[in-house]
Formats: sequence, structure tokens, C-alpha cells
Amino acid sequence: MPKKVLIVEDEKAISDIIMFNLKREGYEVMQALTGPDGLKMALENEPDIVLLDIMLPEMDGFEVLTKIRETSEVPVIMVTAREEECDKVLGLETGADDYVTKPFSMVELLARVKANTRRTVSAIKKPETSMKIGDILIDTEAQAVMKNDAPLDLTQREYEIILYFAKNPTKVISREELMEKVWGYDYYGDLRAVDVAMRRLREKIEDDPSEPKLIITKRGVGYYLGK
Ligand code: CA
Repeated sequence: MPKKVLIVEDEKAISDIIMFNLKREGYEVMQALTGPDGLKMALENEPDIVLLDIMLPEMDGFEVLTKIRETSEVPVIMVTAREEECDKVLGLETGADDYVTKPFSMVELLARVKANTRRTVSAIKKPETSMKIGDILIDTEAQAVMKNDAPLDLTQREYEIILYFAKNPTKVISREELMEKVWGYDYYGDLRAVDVAMRRLREKIEDDPSEPKLIITKRGVGYYLGK
């Protein structure tokens, strides 16, 4: 999918040159000629990056950026007319990701666009931080488990058990395996410790612990996730 660039620039001739060069590089390009239009398109048209001129009619680039940042983390490259404005872009912590100073070369601008859109790709590839089992949500970053949005009070071991099931959604997991993976290789415990832990976990996560629907027993083999 081509990356979408939004150019917010009131000088049509400059905007057109930038658009021409970006399109040649395979980008999809949108143009806005005023601050309010730029803001609207940045929020509604989901660009991958915004090139934002500072000197704009109606609403200047700083104001547009502040409003964008209220709801969006889209990368923004500020286009400044003078060197002095760079200090403002960087110093005010406006939330700009980068800037270029007019007059800029197309080579430089394209390099900046490329660098700043690459970053969003890696941001999207962030590892999953939440998993779902039925109505149970596991937030691995906060190490929290929720049932219907209400937090469950699990012990560390109970958390690790449910996480292990979530990571192995199609597998029947034996008590031996749970003992090895959750309790650890050097735990020489009774396998009944697993039964006890599972019973307690079920009391917390199941609607009816006597008839488990989330983690089901396969008699003589182990446990598996319900569908
Ligand atoms: Ca301008």
C-alpha cells in the first residue's frame, strides 16, 4: 500500500512541486491550502505523514499541530521559512517530528519523509500487548487481567498460567507441561499443585467454575482453551 502524504501549504506552486516529486516516488498525496483544511484532512483522511507549513492563512502551522496532537500521533514535518523558526519548532516541544527549512532540496525533503514514515511502520510492528480468551483480556504490558473490563485479582502464578494458555490457544496442555513451564524446571512438586492452582484460577475467571468454559479439562490428558 502506498504511503499517504498530506501537504499543508498555502502556496499552490510549492505544494504542486512537492506533490509531483512525492508521486514520482510512489506516494499518494493530498493537498490542503489552509490551516483548518489541513487539520480536518490530517484527522479524517488518515495520512501516514503530514508536511506542515508554518505560515498559513487562518490558522498557523503551530496551532494546526497542537490541535492534531490532541488526538493523533501522525508524524509531522514542519516546513519553516526561516532558520529562526527552527528554534521555535524544536524549543516549544510542539510535537513536531522533524522540520525542513525553505528553500529545501527535494532530495532532502524526500529523505525526511522516508525516514519519518519508516518509523510509523516499526511502531505498528510493536509486539502484541494484549490477548483475549473469551471475555478475558490479558494486558501483558501492565500484567493485568480483565474480565468484562473489571480487573481480576490474580496471583503471579495464576497470571502465568493464563498467559501460557493464551500463547498456546490450540494446544492441549498437560499438567506436566504446566508444571515445567510455569513452576519451572527445577520445581519438584506434586502435580496436584497444578490441579489446585487451576481450581483457584477457575474460581476467578469462569462464570461457573463447576462448569468451565474458558479452560477445559481433557480427562487424563490435560487442559485446553474453550472456543
Ligand atoms: Ca506559507
